[in-house]
This record gives sequence, C-alpha cells and structure tokens, in this order.
Amino acid sequence: MDIFLHICCGPCALYPIGVLKAQGMHITGFFYNPNIHPFREYERRVEALEEVARVKDLPIVWDGSGYGLKDWLSSLDGATAQKERCPLCYEMRLERSAKEARDRGFKYYSSTLLYSKYQRHGLIREIGQEKARKFGIEFYYQDFRRGWIEGIEEAVALGIYRQPYCGCIFSESERYAKRIKRLSDRLKERREVL
Ligand code: SF4
Repeated sequence: MDIFLHICCGPCALYPIGVLKAQGMHITGFFYNPNIHPFREYERRVEALEEVARVKDLPIVWDGSGYGLKDWLSSLDGATAQKERCPLCYEMRLERSAKEARDRGFKYYSSTLLYSKYQRHGLIREIGQEKARKFGIEFYYQDFRRGWIEGIEEAVALGIYRQPYCGCIFSESERYAKRIKRLSDRLKERREVL
C-alpha cells in the first residue's frame, strides 16, 4: 500500500516510518511546515529531515514555497494563544497534505504529528479525517505516541538535530518563558540603576 506521509520534522518521523514500513507500506514523505520559525531553525529542521531521508532511504516531496513565515502569520489572522493558533496550524498543514496526496494519486495519507505527546492528538485525527473526506481520500490513523521513547532514542543514536520547541515563534517564547522573565527582571533592575 502507498501512503503520503506529512512530516513535521526528522526526529518525529523516525518511529512512524519504522511502523509503517513494518506494515508493508511504501512511504512518500511530504515536508510542508510554514509554522517553523525563525529561518535558521527552519533550515536546521530541513537538514535534519534530509539526514533521516538518507538513512531511511525515503523519498521526500519538499514543498516548493519554502520558508513560509508570511503565509503562516496571515493564515492565523491574529490568533496567537495556543488554543486558537494550533487548530489553524493543523488545518493549514493537513489541508495542503491531503490535497497534495490526492493530486499525486495517493489513496491514503497520514501525519507524523500523530507521534507527538505535546500535540492535540484527538484534534489532529479529526482534522486529518475531515481533510481526507474533502479530497476524497483516507486518513491513515495510528497512535504513534506509543513509540515516543523509541523515537527519541533512535534520533539520539543517529545524532539527528532535536528541536527544543514546537515550531512557531509563539511556541518558542512559551518554551523559554522563565528565561524571558528572568532576563526582563535583570534588565529592569539595570534600568533602575542607570
Ligand atoms: S505551537 Fe506548534 S502546532 Fe501550535 S501553532 Fe505553534 S507550531 Fe503550530
């Protein structure tokens, strides 16, 4: 069976690739993630997936539009809180993945977003299925979260870059919230001294 697999990043792809291959699937990966910022981070994640593709001998379709900061921000329409922006972010990526899968003649598609413990799993499944219906294909659902540790161990063994935050600039600032606070406190104190 052929499957079109949306890949959010190299490390998250390792476990799903192993499982799908063991199930006899022929995988074509698809990298479309305009949510990853800033550019140097986007570039590092592309390089990490290039390495995974080489190690796993996996064909990848790279989205031709490249670094998509502007498109992503305009699709959010001001929604910056996690509960508002993440559904829009899933929508954008899964819609494009389902369309691309249909256009390329695939009957099945899926996403490595189903691997992450930190994503809204149920919502990804729902949106994935909704987009599949829209484009007349099927969303191949699997709970890849059960391989969370296995996937991390493989990424570490391969020396693949593992990112410290989900992807968008908002998730980066949430990830470093404590450091941001400590730094602003320090700067505030200095200002008072001056
Ligand atoms: S936290 Fe992750 S899923 Fe949510 S909007 Fe940012 S990049 Fe997208």
